[in-house]
Amino acid sequence: MSRGPLLFKDIDTPGLASLDTYRKGGGYEAVTATLGKIPADQVIEVVKASGLRGRGGAGFPTGMKWSFVPKASPKPRYIVCNADESEPGTFKDRELMEKNPHLLLEGMILAGYAIGSHLGYLYLRGEFEYIQRILDKAIAEARAAGILGDNVMGSGYRFQIHTHLGAGAYICGEETALLSSLEGYRGQPRLKPPFPAVEGLYACPTVVNNTETLMVVPHVLKHGGAWYRQWGTEKSAGTKVFSVSGPVRRPGNYEVPLGYSMKQLIEQDCGGMRDGFKLKAVIPGGSSVPLLPAADLDTPLDYESMNAKGTFLGSGGVIVIDDRTCIVDALWNITRFYEHESCGKCTPCREGTYWMAEVLERLENGAGKDSDIDLLADVADNILGKSFCALGDAAAMPVQGALKHFRGGFEHHV
Ligand code: SF4
Repeated sequence: MSRGPLLFKDIDTPGLASLDTYRKGGGYEAVTATLGKIPADQVIEVVKASGLRGRGGAGFPTGMKWSFVPKASPKPRYIVCNADESEPGTFKDRELMEKNPHLLLEGMILAGYAIGSHLGYLYLRGEFEYIQRILDKAIAEARAAGILGDNVMGSGYRFQIHTHLGAGAYICGEETALLSSLEGYRGQPRLKPPFPAVEGLYACPTVVNNTETLMVVPHVLKHGGAWYRQWGTEKSAGTKVFSVSGPVRRPGNYEVPLGYSMKQLIEQDCGGMRDGFKLKAVIPGGSSVPLLPAADLDTPLDYESMNAKGTFLGSGGVIVIDDRTCIVDALWNITRFYEHESCGKCTPCREGTYWMAEVLERLENGAGKDSDIDLLADVADNILGKSFCALGDAAAMPVQGALKHFRGGFEHHV
């Protein structure tokens, strides 16, 4: 059974990870048709026309990001794939890389060509060591076949890719912390601006794109921007992979057009709730976004509709929460994660995540006071928008969302 119209269409083809099988299905045809035949500027225009937005969480337009790389810079340029995928509840890039590694390499070659780069780094989270082996094998196959190297598929264009394994820190999914980690430093975010497109890896122009984003690129260049727009909405074009977890009958990765109904995803694609469980809320975009109560289940899965409901599409990690789960307990669990992963660079996040976890622990253990609920809201408010990077916001937003929709649950604990 196909789990999607594009990236997941053939993902379960036996042997797809091998170069032979990938090429039999049209693999690397976009590279042949593009390199040396279409000017780099035009490649960027095609990606802009497709409406493709970054699938890692921020949703920034991909073609626009590429166009920020200064054309006159004499420095080397780099393309970096952010394959850190550490957002709790998100497991789409893992399956995509495991089963279709050459599609990612093809996307990186094309992105590199578009920005005038000759070197790409594939940054994987520490736990993905087994995927690094799959990717290294694919890279070796591509090198042996002349797809990577000094003369990519006879085009005269030079491009290489190296994998790099992080040490397993959530913050290294933030693009500037990732670059610091790749350079061998402690993974902590850097001040922006300058943005990586101008001053990234080794202070050189760098584009950092998410795995799923790069895997869409060969399809867009093969069929055109308008073709990709057959899916999705005007502002949220194309398809998106959602990782559904929780007590549903068929949890897993599903690729659907943006604008698809969340209700349909859960009730039809995932087979509905398991016997004895009732849906209470959904976290739509990985643990760092505010939850949606069951009453909002028919919100379309696109960037704009989610924002209108006060939450985000994020990374597409759909965490289903059932009626047996205590929201205070779930939130304490999430907050402990952010407390642990806070890099410590700025005070609001370093101290605030600690205090939110303390207050939640008190509430959960029956030692909470009336004033704790307002204290929790106050601490979250002093983190949101006041931290150095998005991890602070990621810690504060679930707390604010839970207080907004389930305040009664907190009062019950007091
Ligand atoms: Fe580090 Fe948190 Fe500050 Fe980001 S918000 S720089 S993770 S302490």
